[in-house]
Amino acid sequence: MRFLFCQNCNKKLLQVDCFDNIAIKCNRCKQINHFSCVAQSPKSVATQ
Ligand SMILES: [Zn+2]
Repeated sequence: MRFLFCQNCNKKLLQVDCFDNIAIKCNRCKQINHFSCVAQSPKSVATQ
């Protein structure tokens, strides 16, 4: 779980679990924020 913040005014926009690419319009400053997420725990790596 992580939070996404507006890249312009730093307002907290959304709490997300996982995503690839997302665009969120900030309600405060109307900035459209694009986020792209790189998987932090690749499924191809199974060490347990
Ligand atoms: Zn904003």
